Amino acid sequence: MKNSATEPVTAYIGLGSNLDNPAEQIKSARSAIASIAGVKELAFSSLYHSSPMGPQDQPDYLNAVMAVETHMPPIDLLRCLQAIENEQGRIRKGERWGARTLDLDLLVYSDQQIETAELTVPHPGLADRAFVLYPLAEIAPHLSVAGKGNIADLIVKCPLNGLRRLF
Ligand code: ATP
Ligand code: CA
Ligand code: CA
Ligand code: CA
Repeated sequence: MKNSATEPVTAYIGLGSNLDNPAEQIKSARSAIASIAGVKELAFSSLYHSSPMGPQDQPDYLNAVMAVETHMPPIDLLRCLQAIENEQGRIRKGERWGARTLDLDLLVYSDQQIETAELTVPHPGLADRAFVLYPLAEIAPHLSVAGKGNIADLIVKCPLNGLRRLF
């Protein structure tokens, strides 16, 4: 019973920002996530610098990945992450992959595969995105991603695409 109320699972969260001091945004989000009741930080990657996906008329991004231990069901965790995005001034303009103060994606939740209108886990972009895979591999080099395979195998198929590790 991996997902019972008493036994915590490990989840991975992708953090991204390209507006209003991205380093501060990521830092605040990290403490906000760790402050959620029923969520505990296990690991946090380096910060990475990446080029924007989609619209190119926006600043470059800072990205990181955080590992957490949680008792919270995945949909509740997603809603907490969305609340943190909102608290940090995220404005949804309807443009796909537009600039944002904070983006928090639930990348992996234990070994679960979830497909609902609100939540797809593992995150559908995970295997194609250097800014997700490289920080994820840094903190979870032996991770097996449900339905997608080992992180080490995924990474060899994903070019860096200009991704730079900062600190
Ligand atoms: P992408 O999902 O391709 O990275 P995005 O992060 O810019 O794009 P958002 O506008 O932040 O997309 O989110 C759109 C919707 O995606 C959210 O309303 C949420 O319900 C849904 N969603 C589905 N799966 C996930 C997930 N694993 N993590 C976060 N949001 C998800
Ligand atoms: Ca906590
Ligand atoms: Ca995203
Ligand atoms: Ca998102």
